[in-house]
Amino acid sequence: MTDPHQLLVRNPATEETVALVPAAGPQDVDAAVARAARVQPAWAALAPADRARLLRRFADTVDAHLEELARLEVREAGHTVGNARWEAGNARDLLLYAAGGAERLLGKQIPVPGGWNVTFQEPLGVIGVIAPWNFPMPIAAWGSFPALAAGNAVVLKPAETTPLTALRLAELGLEAGLPEHLFQVLPGYGDTAGRALVDHPDIAKIVFTGSTRTGREVMERCARLVKPVTLELGGKSPSIVFADADLKAALDPLSFLDNAGQDCCARTRILVQDTVLDEARDVLADALAAVVVGDPADEKTQMGPLISAPQLERVRSYVPADAPALRGSAPDGPGYWFPPTVLTGERPDSAAAREEIFGPVAVLLPFTDEQDAIRLANDTPYGLSGSVWTRDVGRALRVSQGVRAGNLSVNSHSSVRYWTPFGGFKQSGLGRELGPDALTAFTETKNVFISTEGPAQ
Ligand code: NDP
Repeated sequence: MTDPHQLLVRNPATEETVALVPAAGPQDVDAAVARAARVQPAWAALAPADRARLLRRFADTVDAHLEELARLEVREAGHTVGNARWEAGNARDLLLYAAGGAERLLGKQIPVPGGWNVTFQEPLGVIGVIAPWNFPMPIAAWGSFPALAAGNAVVLKPAETTPLTALRLAELGLEAGLPEHLFQVLPGYGDTAGRALVDHPDIAKIVFTGSTRTGREVMERCARLVKPVTLELGGKSPSIVFADADLKAALDPLSFLDNAGQDCCARTRILVQDTVLDEARDVLADALAAVVVGDPADEKTQMGPLISAPQLERVRSYVPADAPALRGSAPDGPGYWFPPTVLTGERPDSAAAREEIFGPVAVLLPFTDEQDAIRLANDTPYGLSGSVWTRDVGRALRVSQGVRAGNLSVNSHSSVRYWTPFGGFKQSGLGRELGPDALTAFTETKNVFISTEGPAQ
């Protein structure tokens, strides 16, 4: 039974209790938004260089606590310690990038007859950020730090299972000298605190990351107030492997097992040209057997547990015990473990091939030629990311143009850099985070015309 007043944070690798955290209700959201609205105008009025200086100090403070943040992420989210260090470093680096953005957020001067015309990028006010449990620290950072740099205040609701790193980030912000109440973290449940944030009339914009189902509801509720929303939602991303590719690199199982597959960019549809299908099966079988699954705090571990018992049940429901599959191994428990798995007998229209499972499970599907590969890659409601593996440059470009997804990699499985834009096509989302326009997304454009005509003589 969940306690409506308290969040229970468990270590997913051991099922031990890590912390009990008071859960915010709608009145707490009201109070937090009112506090944020009081401090935001003074923050927006600071010279950009002064905002940047404070954000750089915040980055230094995060840097000084990098290992502590990483270890906290390991305990509350079950991430491998190597990944968790990358995540804390990503939060720090984004702070530095956003600080530079504050100094470069420019308006335009547009020639018009009879006067001067200038535009201003004005902060929106108080931003509501709703983060999921799969990457608690980076996603909290992506929604919050560019918003702060652009002169906004932020109220962030982390996922109920993973509030601790976000709370610590807010403390570090205060330690670095950020104004009180500018960056508030409000742990709570989605259907109470989350909804209250979305519905709040003084929240100027919502940044939501999570499932497409909840994202749809958030968008509907925002529509009632004509509130802008950025949505980073699910994915079912393809890895398109042509016969001429470096098969070992293309079929690296970490492309879908990273973070135990709880990654919206995971390449969970492995599309392989039919002429090398048998070879691909062999490469995958060997690679799955070699994946080190276990204690996420151990430096050698490549894959940790799933986040929770319900998530484990969800993943199991897609993989019947007798399903044709290549399988690695995983510990029995305690903890929420599932072995690395590639389903080999799925049809392209099966639930496992089309729905976001969010676990260490991929499907292997053959294609015949370039057109067939593009058709299969696009045959899902999602369009977040994907990889194209071939040594033929022309084909790599044609396929990249044909696949409808926001983040593609050629001969690589990487998707995220804080200085390049990130977001989805189709039901994978709306809007972009990160990259050169990250701050602009948290501003309104104001156009001012100044007449140079003198008074009539
Ligand atoms: P949700 O989309 O429900 O949760 C994401 C965030 O939204 C959490 O902070 C959650 O709070 C909050 N939330 C939930 N309901 C509402 C609401 N009505 N209004 C406002 N905020 C709300 O994801 P789940 O945790 O339920 O995960 C289910 C599935 O979603 C996963 O198996 C996976 O397939 C997908 N998912 C995809 C993610 C992605 O990055 N693309 C991230 C997370 C999940 P609370 O924690 O209390 O539920």
